[in-house]
Amino acid sequence: MATEAQIAARRIHSCNPATGEMLREVPCQSDAEVNRAVHRARQAQPAWNALGISKRVEALRNFQRLLHARKTEIARSITQEAGKPVAEALLTEVLVVLDAVRFCAENARAFLREETVPHASLAMKAKSGRILREPYGVIGIISPWNYPFSIPATESLSALVMGNAVVLKPSELTPLIALELASLLHEAGVPDDIFQVVPGDGITGAALVNSPIDKLVFTGSVSTGKRIAQAAAARLLPVVLELGGKDPMIVLDDADIDVASSAAVWGAFVNAGQACLSVERCYVHRRICQKFTEACVAKTKRLRVGNGLDPQTDIGPLIHERQLCIVEAQIEDARGKGSRVLAGGERLAHLGANFYAPTVLADVNHSMTIMREETFGPVLPIMPFDSDEEAIQLANDSDYGLAASVWTKNLSRGEAIARKIQSGTVMINDAISCFGISEAPHGGVKSSGIGRTHGKYGFEEMVRIKYLDADRLPKVKKLWWYGYGAAFTRQMESFVDMQFAQSSAQRLRGALRTLGLIRRKEQL
Ligand code: NAD
Repeated sequence: MATEAQIAARRIHSCNPATGEMLREVPCQSDAEVNRAVHRARQAQPAWNALGISKRVEALRNFQRLLHARKTEIARSITQEAGKPVAEALLTEVLVVLDAVRFCAENARAFLREETVPHASLAMKAKSGRILREPYGVIGIISPWNYPFSIPATESLSALVMGNAVVLKPSELTPLIALELASLLHEAGVPDDIFQVVPGDGITGAALVNSPIDKLVFTGSVSTGKRIAQAAAARLLPVVLELGGKDPMIVLDDADIDVASSAAVWGAFVNAGQACLSVERCYVHRRICQKFTEACVAKTKRLRVGNGLDPQTDIGPLIHERQLCIVEAQIEDARGKGSRVLAGGERLAHLGANFYAPTVLADVNHSMTIMREETFGPVLPIMPFDSDEEAIQLANDSDYGLAASVWTKNLSRGEAIARKIQSGTVMINDAISCFGISEAPHGGVKSSGIGRTHGKYGFEEMVRIKYLDADRLPKVKKLWWYGYGAAFTRQMESFVDMQFAQSSAQRLRGALRTLGLIRRKEQL
């Protein structure tokens, strides 16, 4: 068991995964520091909420302007800490966040508008009801390293615009970009205590889960997500869990082979395969499987692996060697069970410790870990199928259910399949880009998680629903209050009949007998 002093002395090291160079050492926040941050956030949050939607949107718009002005600088910082090519950092991180601000600015006011609740029940006609959406207070966010800017930023923006304060615990591998996010938000006018970053490792994350936050939005692996769900259950802390994926890509026999093979290669290798929405399993109709596979192999061999800061690079390094070892172990398991490596399948040690060649595998099946467990590396396993039903069955034969894609020229056939796939999102003729649609809810089913981020459903996770009811007859006692007795019971039977009896004669009789309720004398 670590002592307080040892825990307090923990440090994390932000390193460039392409070169191994240490960028900065950052101390881990202790339990006490995390609790103090949450306390400060709680103190500051009512004023942020009272500021009103216009002022909050103004701050977010300032943030958008600053981010746009520094887009390349931020993208390069992301590349230095997470490895992906700068072009990808611009597209999948900076652009996604700029558009998330646009979505918040255009939609938050309408979302927060009070909603009237018309009452159909006769007994409740004198009341007027409204739905209020109120911020939780302090939202804790725990984020991973693979999209170190867009994931915490999009989640934070919807929390902030709804009137919450945020305490963010970024991945121990990418604390610097989270600190840059904080300085941009603060410069834009979001008060320091309303958006705070508590850098650290899993212990710091656990401290945030156990701190007095009002809700937690966690993005990360299934195993950590389950641990967090258990801790949250003990204190009924509401959580959103955005967890791993094993996304299937189904290529039907009428798909455009050139388009679908380019999609498979990009979908499997973007961010070196380290995307929750990566194409992790590719099922192709047997009639076109060979041609499709050949196209994927040819395109894979043209990809350039290297440092993401070089504009010629298509694929950067993996985040660390441990991740590379997981990829290697899964490929070894597949090879041992009869899979053929058609491209890649090896480390690129001459580039650095974390580089792996983009890999295409054939002759895979569901007994292999490569088809069952999240790979999170640049691997495209391709498996043939013979019928739409078999493709659906293979896609659903997984513990995960984050997203899926179906490729076909026949949109109604694609949609029929999409409706039968168990996942949070299904795209027809595209993959992964759903994350960049600010309006689209993001989240999974099965082991891929609980709840949604992004869009209107992402807003919904950041507010508590309060039902406000006002009775318009303050001087009238309710008919159903005490003063029970045989006559009252009969009147209640009649009241029920008046509304729900099958025959109109019975409903009319009920209505006439109900009139007695109005002259009810024995009421307390
Ligand atoms: P991880 O689970 O190892 O870590 C995620 C975060 O949790 C980190 O900040 C880590 O410090 C923290 N953490 C670790 N132990 C903790 C604990 N006991 N209590 C609280 N916090 C703790 O995941 P990772 O390796 O950073 O990220 C990769 C995983 O994230 C993949 O499985 C990927 O699919 C998933 N992911 C999911 C989505 C999505 O939207 N569904 C998006 C991106 C990544």
